[in-house]
Amino acid sequence: MHTLRDLPSVDRLLTALRERNADAPHDLLRAAARAEIDLLRNEIQAVVALPEGTPLELLVGRVAARLARELRPSLLPVINASGVIIQTNLGRAPLSAGALEAMARVGAGYSNLEYDLEAGERGSRSTHLESLLRRLTGAEAAMAVNNNAAAVYLALSGLALGREVIISRGQAVEIGGGFRIPDVLRQSGADLVEVGTTNRTYARDYAAAISERTALLLRVHTSNFRLMGFVHETSLAELAELGHARGVPVLDDLGSGTLLATAPYGLTAEPTVQESVAAGADLVTFSGDKLLGGPQAGMIVGRRELVERLKRHPLARALRVDKTTIAGMEATLLSYLGGRAADEIPVWRMIAAPLEGLRARAELLAGRLSLAGTQAAVTSCASAVGGGSLPGETLPSAGVSITPGSDGLSRRLRLGDPAVVARLTDGRLIFDLRTVLPEQDTALAQAILAAL
Ligand SMILES: *Cc1c(COP(=O)(O)O)cnc(C)c1O
Repeated sequence: MHTLRDLPSVDRLLTALRERNADAPHDLLRAAARAEIDLLRNEIQAVVALPEGTPLELLVGRVAARLARELRPSLLPVINASGVIIQTNLGRAPLSAGALEAMARVGAGYSNLEYDLEAGERGSRSTHLESLLRRLTGAEAAMAVNNNAAAVYLALSGLALGREVIISRGQAVEIGGGFRIPDVLRQSGADLVEVGTTNRTYARDYAAAISERTALLLRVHTSNFRLMGFVHETSLAELAELGHARGVPVLDDLGSGTLLATAPYGLTAEPTVQESVAAGADLVTFSGDKLLGGPQAGMIVGRRELVERLKRHPLARALRVDKTTIAGMEATLLSYLGGRAADEIPVWRMIAAPLEGLRARAELLAGRLSLAGTQAAVTSCASAVGGGSLPGETLPSAGVSITPGSDGLSRRLRLGDPAVVARLTDGRLIFDLRTVLPEQDTALAQAILAAL
């Protein structure tokens, strides 16, 4: 039984700690010592049962543990066994080996970020991605910003400040995380003009709303929901025809956007960026880390004159991408140019992963877990693409289920090292192998066994 009098002073504790934590900064050590003494004082006052040892010994151990916690990063890798390929909360697209290598190479030293090596003078950071994006999308010009929200914001601010933007009522949507198209329009200083009805909007509705105040016709991919039944959306080609006849540019916010067709993978056709450009959109915006499978960024491609205006806009500086993002994005786009995207980009490898391969991995994992005495079985499950693309659609997948699954087990898995996020349904914990990188299979088995 300890009393408050047994508590060491901060200085006494610091002396004891100095020997063990010789290289820890003094302020860090002192703050940890204070915090742990306070905690122990509360425990003694509350007559909490304490482990063996003198208060000094107890505190030395606890301060060391606190320092280890404080010096651990908060952002940690997670094994995604949830079956959602593009999961915003889990960091969206895992990067390709080529992208990671390029980011490390460029990030570790100096680069020609804004330096023209041929001329030996100042260059522009937008050149690195522009020609690739032009070739891949067929657009005249391109630029990259921090994310797609920034791309939409810059386009609206740069082209429609104090003027009107016409949008279908059915597309004035919230994308997620509170990103609402009407709010972004207001923030950018543009006036929103909604036309049509929630389910049906015709080209004539847009035509009737065009005035000398109209700056843009805006089409927004409705991303995470789908209207069905008695619906009519004006096609992009119709909008472009109308816009061009009346001298009003058309902005197409594709959201995810994709450079590869999704139909060959058994999914509905997600509109490609090339299709939007070909259909006559004057500007197209899309994310870098959704179906494109690269680092976080927002792409703007389209007519040269409009893109140049956005590049010169003061906001462009505030929204610009850094060198590692450009390096990772360039490597990602080079995979597309080389025709190797489906083999090299993790998001596409996951979409393309054949069911038999997933089932074979599930059998291995279930076997490992069963050997250790766990109730694990191979199960069929369904993966989702996520990232606001292809809502409601799934890919048949295979995984392992553990019965009984519980909130407690889910929690231990989340707090393990590495952390694992799985799906708990009907009392079963399901690990969908489509979203687990194949090289993580062993780590996943170990993490599950540790959590059990
Ligand atoms: C995801 C999405 C955005 C936002 O893109 P971020 O890259 O997350 O900033 C904007 N518009 C649509 C239609 C989207 O799906």
